[in-house]
Amino acid sequence: NDRLLSGERHAEDRQEGSLRPRRLDDFTGQKEVRENLDVFIQAARGREEAMDHVLFFGPPGLGKTTLSQIVASELGVGFRATSGPVIAKAGDLAALLTNLQPRDVLFIDEIHRLNPAVEEILYPAMEDFQLDLIIGEGPAARSVRIDLPPFTLVGATTRSGLLTTPLRDRFGIPLRLRFYEPEELVDIVARGAKLLNFEMTRDGAMEIARRSRGTPRIAGRLLRRVRDFAVVAGKSPVNAFIADAALTRLEVDNLGLDSQDRRYLTCIASNYGGGPVGVDTLAAALSEERDTIEDVIEPYLLQQGLIQRTPRGRMLGVKGFTHLGLTPPRNQAG
Ligand code: ADP
Repeated sequence: NDRLLSGERHAEDRQEGSLRPRRLDDFTGQKEVRENLDVFIQAARGREEAMDHVLFFGPPGLGKTTLSQIVASELGVGFRATSGPVIAKAGDLAALLTNLQPRDVLFIDEIHRLNPAVEEILYPAMEDFQLDLIIGEGPAARSVRIDLPPFTLVGATTRSGLLTTPLRDRFGIPLRLRFYEPEELVDIVARGAKLLNFEMTRDGAMEIARRSRGTPRIAGRLLRRVRDFAVVAGKSPVNAFIADAALTRLEVDNLGLDSQDRRYLTCIASNYGGGPVGVDTLAAALSEERDTIEDVIEPYLLQQGLIQRTPRGRMLGVKGFTHLGLTPPRNQAG
């Protein structure tokens, strides 16, 4: 799924490291999360202990990886990163864990995708800093227990409900990231323009902020595209007019929806009379993965009130109809 407006990481986002804030103070938005982390970081530093395990959950591109790195640097400890699907065997995880320095942060992205055998050995590691491994096979097999250095596991996932209960319960600090407000994104965009060395007016930054689906990764991506457009057109500074022209060219509408979102909304409106329609039916009708629909397309549409999730399926909201230029049916509630 390589569309411009998905919060998921693309190949073109390799440059995004340059836009990553390094300290908690440089991290914009997510006020509650920041304040919580600040307390836990101070406390762990004061006690000179590993900080409790953290679980970040929320849609892609909201800053989970960035915050994990910030946690490590604010704690003054090492940072190791991996992801759920990459850890194939228990031995892979054991190798990672035994190589940690005391109090290091181990970041596991997509932690809901760990295989069950790996997850199993993570429990005692998180709880008692111990590894229980079976060495060898058949009658010669024996179990060994290895002490690990105390460490902080930071897990990231799109929805906390994707985790098994025993795994979720082992995180002392669960933190939910929310979509950003345009007023927060505008600061992120302005900071990005400065880092990318080009001139942009405040209203130019706002135009990008409003159309970034509440997601810093998308804001960064749109910023780079708008910059390219402005450079080719020889326009500087980039104002709202230029930003709007570039974004319209990229088919990003005034709510920050792209053709895939509009296709999704139109499908519910035209094929299912505005719903309710089950997510699996929609996935089949749109030839999309159910996970893509639930993790990438829907969260922002829900947050914007364009659709509603009901026990009988997805329904188009009044705002969804009007955004498509359609008249909502009379009995439509929200
Ligand atoms: P996630 O892990 O949730 O998918 P990342 O941490 O990789 O998201 O962030 C995606 C991009 O957005 C990175 O370039 C990061 O620098 C930027 N970013 C995320 N949150 C912020 C923020 N609060 N302020 C500035 N940039 C941010």
